[in-house]
Amino acid sequence: MITEFIQATSPLEALVAIQKHGEGTVFLAGGTEIHRLGSSVSCSKVVSLKGLALDAITEKNGIVTIGSMVTFQQALDSALVPSYLKESLRYCASRTRRNMATIGGNITLSRDDSYLLPTLIAAKARLILGDISNDGSYAEENIPIREYHSFREHFTGSLILGIVLNKPQRFVASKRFSRTAQSPGAVTVSFGADISSGAAHDVRICAAVKGSGLMRLLQVEEGVSSGQYQSPEDAATQAGTDIAFVDDITGGAAYKRYILGTAVSELYRSCLGAMNKGSAV
Ligand SMILES: Cc1cc2nc3c(=O)[nH]c(=O)nc-3n(C[C@H](O)[C@H](O)[C@H](O)COP(=O)(O)OP(=O)(O)OC[C@H]3O[C@@H](n4cnc5c(N)ncnc54)[C@H](O)[C@@H]3O)c2cc1C
Repeated sequence: MITEFIQATSPLEALVAIQKHGEGTVFLAGGTEIHRLGSSVSCSKVVSLKGLALDAITEKNGIVTIGSMVTFQQALDSALVPSYLKESLRYCASRTRRNMATIGGNITLSRDDSYLLPTLIAAKARLILGDISNDGSYAEENIPIREYHSFREHFTGSLILGIVLNKPQRFVASKRFSRTAQSPGAVTVSFGADISSGAAHDVRICAAVKGSGLMRLLQVEEGVSSGQYQSPEDAATQAGTDIAFVDDITGGAAYKRYILGTAVSELYRSCLGAMNKGSAV
């Protein structure tokens, strides 16, 4: 139960409040997870991020910066947000929840059915984080989102200030499979590549698999980058060979393995199509 609501007016104030109030104190963004019945976040005190002015979307020289407090709906309504990200924002089918849920909250949760993380990792997004250094001073850093994902523990307590999309020419596409639009996703997978040279380079393929976690498909990334596959279907056979799939309410292990493979080959095929057309998506 939440017994204390703390209002901060700057990132430093929010970080200091978290430190001061200690265990059981968390940042409050849209609150859709914090207030959810059976929430994964257990807390007794919250530090509201509402007064931090982190809800702007800006663009400069093709680089789009999205404040962490931007809601899914606000991002969907913005002409600055790339269409590949809008596709994954729509995976949250409830408009009521889209009006509350923030992008920063979604990234922090890193769920195994994450709406946005596979896409943001495939897009090679960067995060701007606020922290208090060892000497007590406030510091900001700009890190690749894959680093945030790989070293999640290291960033516990960091405040996400914004998300930077600085690769406007990159091909990025995603797919999500769930029983209904409102059900949890069995598999959400995204494929990103730099196709500016006429071949797929700098490939990132990231999957959220319910019950198994969120992971990059490193072998397939390498296979695509090195031109190892004769056809996209060959990539499918390698997708998920190292994932321990589980049976659950979203589907059986064999089903998840199968849809992950077919999704990867379809996304790879779309990437080849975009390359032939000479355009990124
Ligand atoms: C019915 C239901 C179904 C859902 N299904 C899905 C789903 O399929 N996939 C999915 O990904 N999510 C799902 N969610 C969870 C949630 O709606 C989204 O992940 C949402 O984007 C979380 O954002 P929020 O602003 O509401 O986060 P909050 O609930 O406010 O916070 C969530 C966590 O993130 C931390 N946090 C928030 N902002 C920041 C920040 N800027 N910096 C650091 N830490 C921060 C909070 O301290 C807290 O620990 C579901 C929720 C509900 C109620």
